[in-house]
Amino acid sequence: MLKILTTKIELQEWKAKKTDIGFVPTMGNLHQGHLSLVEKSFRHHQNTLISIFVNPTQFNNADDLKNYPRTLTQDLELLELLHKTYSHKELVVFAPLDASEVYPTNFDTQILPGKLATKLCGFYRPGHFSGVCSVVYHLLHLAGAKSAYFGKKDYQQYLIVKKMVEDLSLKTEIVPCELVRDEKGLALSSRNNRLSEDQKISALNLIHALKALEAKLLTDDYLALETLKKKILSEDKQFEYLEILDASNLEAYDQETQNYLIAGAYFVGSVRLIDNIVIKRGTAQHA
Ligand code: AMP
Repeated sequence: MLKILTTKIELQEWKAKKTDIGFVPTMGNLHQGHLSLVEKSFRHHQNTLISIFVNPTQFNNADDLKNYPRTLTQDLELLELLHKTYSHKELVVFAPLDASEVYPTNFDTQILPGKLATKLCGFYRPGHFSGVCSVVYHLLHLAGAKSAYFGKKDYQQYLIVKKMVEDLSLKTEIVPCELVRDEKGLALSSRNNRLSEDQKISALNLIHALKALEAKLLTDDYLALETLKKKILSEDKQFEYLEILDASNLEAYDQETQNYLIAGAYFVGSVRLIDNIVIKRGTAQHA
């Protein structure tokens, strides 16, 4: 049986008796990508806590916040089902009904991530990563977990959260998890539910572009790589950005770069999708 907690007091009571907690923060509308994080936590911890909370402070567009899918009943069903396979482990859901269960009353302090948040999504969504850091900071405190699991689907978010945890000496280890795709290669995302079948096909332009750049990168011909990137961007105006960076710090890559990040943000209608590939230097392997 799933345990469902809705208040921070209930959460504090639950965690007081636990020493080994793995934590998976989410905004709900769960899919196999989220469940893969929960499974990873099951494999490493006796107790797994998943939070389902649509964090208002990370949305810089009121419509996006309003339209974000909220499907708690369906989410709980998916978690129940997954838990059957791991019934010897404890699974607890923290689904606060109100932001006051996450943020302190009259909360008025921001966490401002540095350089990493000036690139990619951070450049186009001002304040977004400050909102992410603020909610993750509070959730990490509430969860008191040994490890927290983050998907590489949001690669920049993972790097920023890891840096925040280091810089603020938080005690939870941040564990990266593989990006999960559907059979056609589309990165699973809660936003995919807002796409029609035709739009799902258009959405594949994003991964196709990333793959084309990956193939070029593997030839070590940087000039051809940059030319291809420019060509894609000039031919398809649905890209918000398409970039190749050093995956360790989001700076420009050079001859010394060990891991490359190829990342894109792409609009299908009004739905903004992101995706990325991380590649190890000199190999055809994904890092
Ligand atoms: P979200 O609910 O979208 O905020 O995502 C919660 C967590 O799930 C984040 O760490 C995401 O990176 C992760 N996640 C979302 N989609 C995927 C995916 N397709 N594969 C792996 N992790 C994912």
